[in-house]
Amino acid sequence: MKKQIAILGSTGSIGTQALQVIEEHPDLYEAYVLTANNRVDMLIEQARKFRPEAVVIANEERYNQLKEALADLPIKVYAGSEALCEVVTDQHIDMVLTAMVGYAGLKPTMHAIKAHKPIALANKETLVVAGELINELAHVNRTPILPVDSEHSAVFQCLAGEADTPIEKVILTASGGPFRTYTHEQLAHVTRQQALKHPNWSMGAKITIDSASMMNKGFEVMEAKWLFGVKPEQIEVVVHPQSIVHSMVQFEDGAIKAQLGMPDMRLPIQYAFSYPQRIKASFPRINWMNCAELTFEQPDLERFRNLALAYEAIHRGGNMPCIVNAANEVVVEAFLNDRISFLGMSDVIEQTMSRASFLAKPSYEDYVATDAEVRRLAAELIH
Ligand code: NDP
Ligand code: MG
Repeated sequence: MKKQIAILGSTGSIGTQALQVIEEHPDLYEAYVLTANNRVDMLIEQARKFRPEAVVIANEERYNQLKEALADLPIKVYAGSEALCEVVTDQHIDMVLTAMVGYAGLKPTMHAIKAHKPIALANKETLVVAGELINELAHVNRTPILPVDSEHSAVFQCLAGEADTPIEKVILTASGGPFRTYTHEQLAHVTRQQALKHPNWSMGAKITIDSASMMNKGFEVMEAKWLFGVKPEQIEVVVHPQSIVHSMVQFEDGAIKAQLGMPDMRLPIQYAFSYPQRIKASFPRINWMNCAELTFEQPDLERFRNLALAYEAIHRGGNMPCIVNAANEVVVEAFLNDRISFLGMSDVIEQTMSRASFLAKPSYEDYVATDAEVRRLAAELIH
């Protein structure tokens, strides 16, 4: 029986790499659902090649084009964000890979969990916004959540065989991004093009900007807290510019386990698909002769204020991470459209954090309201 996989966001960086994993193991995996937001041409191409049961285009204006292009094939075609929530509940789906970007991933992920579909979670914003709620939902429905984010996959791999071993510390590595060595003055003038050039990873635009500002690492601390049930004080961030050590776990006897590899997302994607097995892969291997050194340094919370703001949000809890996430989505979009400076992003996030309504025990409806309120506030602050 081949594992039937629904890929939410199949046209993105993670989505296309997931399809490469499926292509490499046609005997094990099949793409059952493919979805996109706007890139309809790529979705058509993927559908013709992988022949899924269904495709969804979130942007309803692209529906007719998609429907007509696939008219000769027995593929169900849907449109709209509600369709994403419905399609993941199909009884034949064995796993849902959440590879959409941003807050939009939350609702379909909740529907998939309620339908007892194991989640391969790339969409970290889901846990940033509503980690507590997602954990409760996964617990009640006994739905496993398998990390795809490379750091969390590394931690997860280090924990194999350690089910009852207490964790002393989780050590998340960070590349430091393209501006690791920049001064505050230099950061004031960096451009979108510079920020989009990540030294080690090729990823979607939003996460690439988050990596440059180190907001990504702040989000990953939140993600680790919910995935591994550790306290924020037990999570250490270490800058490791070579991106070879993907993350580490320190146990109570002082032993540290690390997972190493090339910076290639296909490995963590495949591990989530194949867990608890490891299966053969043809991805490039490390050549140790090319790794002259592996170095580690402290992150600088003064130059990378987003990381400090993320820590503050973790400590305040409640809907504060949701506030930071929504403000961040608005400023990153503005930065990508040259409407705000690199450092201006942190200013808007900080101001939004002090202005938005704080809720200590938010419900799902509260998160929806917070997200909407913050998007309004942040947009006003940018103008
Ligand atoms: P991309 O921007 O490359 O792809 C995003 C995908 O989501 C695309 O298929 C896009 O469709 C779709 N999408 C975007 N917005 C919406 C929406 N509102 N409704 C429905 N679909 C939407 O992102 P990445 O692949 O880089 O990242 C995906 C997620 O994985 C993010 O949460 C990111 O943080 C996480 N992640 C990514 C890593 C990476 O290496 N790329 C590493 C670790 C985590 P369309 O193409 O039509 O726009
Ligand atoms: Mg990561």
